[in-house]
Amino acid sequence: MDINSSTKLYGIFGHPVRHSFSPPMHNAAFQKLGLNCVYLAFDIQPENLASAVESIRQLNIQGINVTIPHKQDIMNYLDEISDAAKYTGAVNTIKNEGGKLLGHNTDVGGFLKDLEAELRIAEFSSISACLIGAGGAARAVLSGLCMKGTKKIIIANRTKSKAERLAEYFQDQFSDTEISSVDLGDETKIKQTLAESNLLINSSSAGMTGHDQLNLPVDSLKENSSVYDLVYNPKETELVKQSKSLGHDACTGLGMLLYQGAESLELWTGKNAPIDVMKQALGL
Ligand code: NAP
Repeated sequence: MDINSSTKLYGIFGHPVRHSFSPPMHNAAFQKLGLNCVYLAFDIQPENLASAVESIRQLNIQGINVTIPHKQDIMNYLDEISDAAKYTGAVNTIKNEGGKLLGHNTDVGGFLKDLEAELRIAEFSSISACLIGAGGAARAVLSGLCMKGTKKIIIANRTKSKAERLAEYFQDQFSDTEISSVDLGDETKIKQTLAESNLLINSSSAGMTGHDQLNLPVDSLKENSSVYDLVYNPKETELVKQSKSLGHDACTGLGMLLYQGAESLELWTGKNAPIDVMKQALGL
């Protein structure tokens, strides 16, 4: 990579951000496309988010990905938000168009694309899903599942009030899907929910390297269900291991990371993302 005074800067804002696989993936893509661009990781403390966004304008950074815990708060500092990001209520991609900052959400498309590629889920009207977590990633999953006409979704979260608010927010927008919530700590209700679900999705950060494990009674899950764990570090999570050993089809979220990154790259550059090179950089 030949870095010079014309090199365009891209990156990711998060806290913590050292776990991110995005820099090698995007730098490999820039190199393959022959673009004079570089992608870096920026650890931004929540109290510095407003000034970090201002620095996008000041330093003429061309594009930024946004990760934990900034996906919702960052919407307050942008000039325009795409419709998809608006109803998701979260932004994971910013495009700088001549100083005007546009917020997008490519997690929704990335999630749906990988769900189909890895778990071959295409018929959503027969899906009853149990979704663990109620943060930014859960919003993208809910958007995707509701847009596809999923029959039923139960959101299970450690802080039940957050799951309740999210269920209400999405139910107001999507009347075709039946959405409710449950306390993740209520073992009886969780077992009952799992027994009625044919798709289990973990969108919480539990199970991630350095975080607590999820400790879910996965053996209660309906036979032959599908399990999608958005966590991708470690490459095989305990949830995925356990689900596979019980005969379920299961995968982690590395493919979602790939497809959301590809969509961001295409938004920024207008070029087709070199998927094979990006896959290779992720070890897929
Ligand atoms: P977030 O907004 O900070 O939300 C975190 C969620 O995890 C909250 O619902 C939180 O519950 C829950 N949680 C945290 N620790 C927990 C524990 N020990 N037990 C049970 N629940 C716990 O984070 P996010 O942006 O939604 O990201 C969540 C995860 O998804 C991260 O691991 C991230 O890397 C992953 N992700 C992956 C992709 C991908 O492309 N594969 C994309 C986006 C996100 P409370 O409400 O009770 O705090």
